[in-house]
Amino acid sequence: MCSKLLFIFNLLLLAGFLYMLAIQNFFRKPEVFSGQAWTAKKFGNTYYLSVKNHAELSSAIADFVKTLDITAGEITGIGAVNTATLRFFNPETKQYVDKTFTGQMEISNLTGNISTQNSEKLIHLHITLGDKNYNALAGHLLAANISGAGEFVVNVVSGGKLEKTFDENVGLNFYDFSK
Ligand code: FE
Repeated sequence: MCSKLLFIFNLLLLAGFLYMLAIQNFFRKPEVFSGQAWTAKKFGNTYYLSVKNHAELSSAIADFVKTLDITAGEITGIGAVNTATLRFFNPETKQYVDKTFTGQMEISNLTGNISTQNSEKLIHLHITLGDKNYNALAGHLLAANISGAGEFVVNVVSGGKLEKTFDENVGLNFYDFSK
């Protein structure tokens, strides 16, 4: 009889606990974060990231990733810049060639991934920019100054670990799922 009562009591305790969790989730407000050059709002494992006008984009993204301690995820976005330094990888020489472009340009797409290398955060960004003649420029994003808005979505694998290793034969960093 006593063990039956204890069982019912535990069941009620569990039901109460689950009820509290449900109530808590229902009233949970999205979290808001900010850095010097950005603000962000979190919904589940997704952040909406706004990079401020005149801010340098790649360092703002790096600061956001560092502040939120993101070790695995992906980023996409749109916006506008007035100067951008892009990088092209030449697989024959294994060298990068950098070039700076100036003038008002739309970020028609930014896409990239977030991982780690030797436990340091590694952000790999590609960008496509459209100029006033509707021509597109594309490459790795090294640096760009926001001129207008910078709106990004960052999906995070919460607690995830994605380590990359440098491959000397190719000259690039690759996902290393053995780590
Ligand atoms: Fe790349």
